[in-house]
Amino acid sequence: MRVLVAGGAGYIGSVVTAALLQSGHQVTVLDDLSTGHADAVPEGATLVRASLHDSAPVLADVRPEAVLHFAAKSLVGASQVTPEDYWHTNVGGSLALLEAMRAADCRRIVFSSTAATYGEPDEVPISEDAPTRPTNTYGASKLAVDHMLTSYAVAHSFAAVSLRYFNVAGAAYGCGERHATETHVIPIALQVAAGTRNAMTVFGEDYPTPDGTCIRDYVHVQDLAAAHLLALPAPAPGEHRVYNLGNGTGFSVQEVVEAVRSVTGHTVPVVVGARRAGDPARLVASSARIRADLGWAPEHTDLAGIVADAWEFAQARNTLV
Ligand code: UDP
Repeated sequence: MRVLVAGGAGYIGSVVTAALLQSGHQVTVLDDLSTGHADAVPEGATLVRASLHDSAPVLADVRPEAVLHFAAKSLVGASQVTPEDYWHTNVGGSLALLEAMRAADCRRIVFSSTAATYGEPDEVPISEDAPTRPTNTYGASKLAVDHMLTSYAVAHSFAAVSLRYFNVAGAAYGCGERHATETHVIPIALQVAAGTRNAMTVFGEDYPTPDGTCIRDYVHVQDLAAAHLLALPAPAPGEHRVYNLGNGTGFSVQEVVEAVRSVTGHTVPVVVGARRAGDPARLVASSARIRADLGWAPEHTDLAGIVADAWEFAQARNTLV
């Protein structure tokens, strides 16, 4: 298929681009490089530097048969401080992209949604039928696009899938995480192991979990990429599907730190700090729906393996400085 990957110079977008190329798809990456890196775009894909707001001429030129949409602002904390950026890029930009698709008669899309659309869950594991009550602007902006896709499916015969990611981690195909502002626990712990950060702060040790630290569902980016390839042809015109993507297993922050210590062989000094606002104690996905519908099954579910892949990428690409 001729596909356009919006945000293909970022972490997850670059991994999925590599997986698409490996499966024989023809890929154009649309990215404004505001947070992505031109050299993260896998060889074999064509990079067009443009924002979502200026995507119409690009789609008119490329004439893709499908779009995979990763382009977004994704920092929860920043979304509370400058919400306008999140509404502008994540919602306004997505609307512009959908309109560009309609103008180019492309009606198939896979969208990066998030577990943050659910907010604080009543029940864990979280299924797609759980109430969506985001607790931050980032989650709200992604949920708005999920709603947009439902209405485009109904009114304009789009075939759409929203994949709601839990905690994506690891590296694959030589692509990985390289954020100028790093907020995620695994890359931060790796920087501490490498000695480029003095210590990491564990955000709260008084949660109602076995070791008192928060539990999250870390899903390997390679398994995530495989889910995108399965999702791409799945929906019929007029259909918008929503699937959660997680390991189904939760790991605590303490377990992450232990895994980083054992994989790297380095010390990881930690300081226990206050809880981070808006952090639920336990977020674990039920991915039963995508397993049943598309036969997806995560293969890289071992935390040490996920950390090892992230560590290897970080060393190879020198992201630990
Ligand atoms: N966390 C932490 N210290 C850090 C960064 C994160 O203790 O420096 C915790 C955070 O409170 C959460 C978990 O690690 O419980 C995962 O956080 P991350 O920001 O990686 O992902 P999120 O779950 O917010 O999407």
